[in-house]
Amino acid sequence: MPTLVMKFGGTSVANLDRIARASKRVAVEVAKGYDVIVIVSAMSGKTNELVGWVNETSPLYDAREYDAIVSSGENVTAGLMALRLQEMDIPARSWQGWQVPLVTNSAHSSARIEEIPTDNINAKFGEGMKVAVVAGFQGISPEGRITTLGRGGSDTTAVAFAAAFDAERCDIYTDVDGVYTTDPRITDKARKLDKIAFEEMLELASLGAKVLQTRSVELAMRYKVRLRVLSSFEEPSDDAGTLVCDEEEIMEQNAVAGVAYSRDEAKMTLISVADRPGIAAAIFGPLAEAGVNVDMIVQNISEEGRTDMTFSCPTDQVARAEKAMADAMASGEINYHELVTDNGVAKVSVVGIGMRSHAGVAAKMFASLQAEGINIKVITTSEIKISVLIDRKYMELAVQALHDAFELEKAA
Ligand code: ASP
Ligand code: MG
Repeated sequence: MPTLVMKFGGTSVANLDRIARASKRVAVEVAKGYDVIVIVSAMSGKTNELVGWVNETSPLYDAREYDAIVSSGENVTAGLMALRLQEMDIPARSWQGWQVPLVTNSAHSSARIEEIPTDNINAKFGEGMKVAVVAGFQGISPEGRITTLGRGGSDTTAVAFAAAFDAERCDIYTDVDGVYTTDPRITDKARKLDKIAFEEMLELASLGAKVLQTRSVELAMRYKVRLRVLSSFEEPSDDAGTLVCDEEEIMEQNAVAGVAYSRDEAKMTLISVADRPGIAAAIFGPLAEAGVNVDMIVQNISEEGRTDMTFSCPTDQVARAEKAMADAMASGEINYHELVTDNGVAKVSVVGIGMRSHAGVAAKMFASLQAEGINIKVITTSEIKISVLIDRKYMELAVQALHDAFELEKAA
């Protein structure tokens, strides 16, 4: 029998009615002849509640107990879904991570998956079981302790199971009906994409399109797991949702697949630092140690042995960055004239694998921002992405203008 992995996120299993609805979806696939592995999240809001209880009880908690507690929401949904399927006369049972056993490393609260043996579950399929309902987000460490994979981690559980069981596809059921050319709240011209390449999805996921956990897309790309993102709130159909797949499966590539944004960015400039070997290491080493996620970096041309260094980071890390730089100055590691912070910027990016073969994408992007009178403060590029920092107050306008310029309303 071919295997299908179906993952239901928190809103798709938020209460008993929704679990019943999701179970009907599973029944449709069972009727088509699949052996189905269902990965479930906790009911929506549950994990947040559990995290809150941990923090209230022990602010400097033991991470092993944190994992024991916050993994429990998934156990409940797995058992309930198995019961619901049994009520529908579908042979099903639940698995917690340790029962598989899904083995991870010992990095509690952000563990990495090391192994998923298939024999245990396959043996049950061999005995006539039709659905294995597995609690997402959790595993067991080599020391025998319960681990979790980081928030949003059941996406990663689902992709890892699809890879381990060589599943035909991994369907991710969520509360949006697919991946869009941009955020539909910013422009009603946003269109759902039928297909998107792994690499594009990776850029869009890490740029803040919160559909899939970034790690799950990395894993899908590595093991070539075809992923489908679709809504559990709409009627089932074979071409529903968005297929995240290898770029070879996408025939016509537009230059740009989507426009992404990140609202709460800050731009920080160290004015007049000595331009000498090791200066970048002396700046970005302490920033990394302070836990600042530096994104863009620009170093100016130097004049008389001094230069300006600009970088961007999330606004809520500005205080940490300022302290790290002040400390580095005090200890004599670096010497700068002034640190200037601009807390009012946003990042807007265009993403597309078609950029590799289409010329003029950057020029078109800059021209359309110019036409709106939007000043660009920092530019960075990669093979399939161009990002700019602009004043936050123009963010929506920029997204709309770029969506128009690349004619994304015609995308499908
Ligand atoms: N329940 C976990 C969370 O809320 C894992 C998941 O749903 O993916 O982060
Ligand atoms: Mg999620």
